[in-house]
Amino acid sequence: MKDIPYLSPKTHKTTFEINLKAFKENLAFYRNKLKPETKLIVMVKAFAYGLGLSKIAEVLADEGIEYLAVAYTDEAVMLREAGYEGKLMVFNPEPDCFDNIIRYKLEPELYSLPIIEEFLNTIKKNAAYQLLEPFPVHLKIDTGMNRLGLKPDEIEVAANLIANNNRLKVHSAFSHLAAADEGEHDAFTLQQFNDFLKHANLLETHLGYSLDKHISNSAAIERFPNFQLDAVRLGIGLYGYSPQVEIQKQLKTVCTLKSRIAQIKEVLPGETVGYGRKGIVESQTKIALVFLGYADGLPRSLSNKGKLYLNGKMAKIIGNVCMDITMLDVTHINCKVGDYVEVFGENLSLGRFADMVGTIPYEVLTDISSRVRRIYV
Ligand SMILES: *Cc1c(COP(=O)(O)O)cnc(C)c1O
Repeated sequence: MKDIPYLSPKTHKTTFEINLKAFKENLAFYRNKLKPETKLIVMVKAFAYGLGLSKIAEVLADEGIEYLAVAYTDEAVMLREAGYEGKLMVFNPEPDCFDNIIRYKLEPELYSLPIIEEFLNTIKKNAAYQLLEPFPVHLKIDTGMNRLGLKPDEIEVAANLIANNNRLKVHSAFSHLAAADEGEHDAFTLQQFNDFLKHANLLETHLGYSLDKHISNSAAIERFPNFQLDAVRLGIGLYGYSPQVEIQKQLKTVCTLKSRIAQIKEVLPGETVGYGRKGIVESQTKIALVFLGYADGLPRSLSNKGKLYLNGKMAKIIGNVCMDITMLDVTHINCKVGDYVEVFGENLSLGRFADMVGTIPYEVLTDISSRVRRIYV
């Protein structure tokens, strides 16, 4: 498959390392939790959670995963142009992308009555499509997340619309759980599951044929084995993170964001470090300048408080994080120019780093900017 390039100036020392062996082991870990007949849909939206779309898709295709899913049509088009030929679901397709959905043989998720109507119209107008089989689509049912999805009282109308036209074939119906990872919401989660089953069955009755049903994300695969149904949608777990402590211990570290020390300096009491003179120096301090800034995805909110891993110790960020450079207090750390600084990885876990930032690992990964070179090891 052709590479979808990231900007990677040779002199830029920050790398996002993706351990493909660990990735495959995590895939095996989740597969082990599934019944042999359960289909696995892997979520590769947002450049495969920041890891790199084409490479991750290539690995998944090699591993025999038959279904990938992205959020937007453009992501799917990039994958097709990179040579990916497998089945591709698009979760948030917009009407102005419907021609590409057809042209690139993508499978749209239809999430509202107007969207179903518009897609039907596009299919009808598409001369090339007239004689082919009904177009494969997926229907999303909203069971309480209140994001995209058909409301339960729209299901009958949707089914009749599709059944009367005979141009679309609903391959699957699905719903998304709002809080599958949080025990305190388990009653709600169970209710979502039961509602989904009820409405998916209703859909089948009105359509007159059976379809695949799926509701589980990573957290539900981990916590609700009986929610597997016909398929599951695996995401974050595969990339190495689980909020369940027991599961996290069993997952392998896939993602490492690291950079190198560019320069080391001694700073004297009374001097300040960085923009706005926010880094206050009270006693003689050794600082290390690292080739990494907020433009790479290190949140500026970590200024003067975040800590990064260096040579077995944690080094505190001193001053404001700059666009391309960050200063660390390394007074008590043995280090030299060229040493690696780990933002997250084997030593400082992605989960802990996200906690430090005050966000979730999903956002940390997808915020790593496109100029950071992805390296697959
Ligand atoms: C992102 C996404 C998933 C996967 O969620 P994880 O928490 O990463 O496992 C599943 N289903 C839908 C609809 C999604 O958007």
